[in-house]
Amino acid sequence: MPRKPRSPSPILVPTHDHCGLCLQKVKLCKSHIIADYMGEWIKAASATKKFRSADAPNRTQQDLPKIPLLCEDCELRIKKYEDGFKASVWDVWCAKVRAAHGELPDDLRIEASRGRA
Ligand SMILES: [Zn+2]
Repeated sequence: MPRKPRSPSPILVPTHDHCGLCLQKVKLCKSHIIADYMGEWIKAASATKKFRSADAPNRTQQDLPKIPLLCEDCELRIKKYEDGFKASVWDVWCAKVRAAHGELPDDLRIEASRGRA
């Protein structure tokens, strides 16, 4: 019996009406592609403290781009992992950068996030 061709994954072919995680056709939230706290760090480290549009570099932007990507339930599921990454990796890395007066650290050992810096 010939296999029925599968429909393309909404992840590979964004449809903006299916959640990118649970693949359900539901109302989507506008999600940051890059985590908001990373955007805030990028903005704080920049000379102008603002983002520039790739399409119009003379125009400043307040926030990183958002796209309809995940449903509300999946946003909350992802947020738990995002918050965990922030606490155990991101904040540790930022503290190293601050301690080095803005120089990027040579290493980012994960054990530093477990309190063995
Ligand atoms: Zn979902």
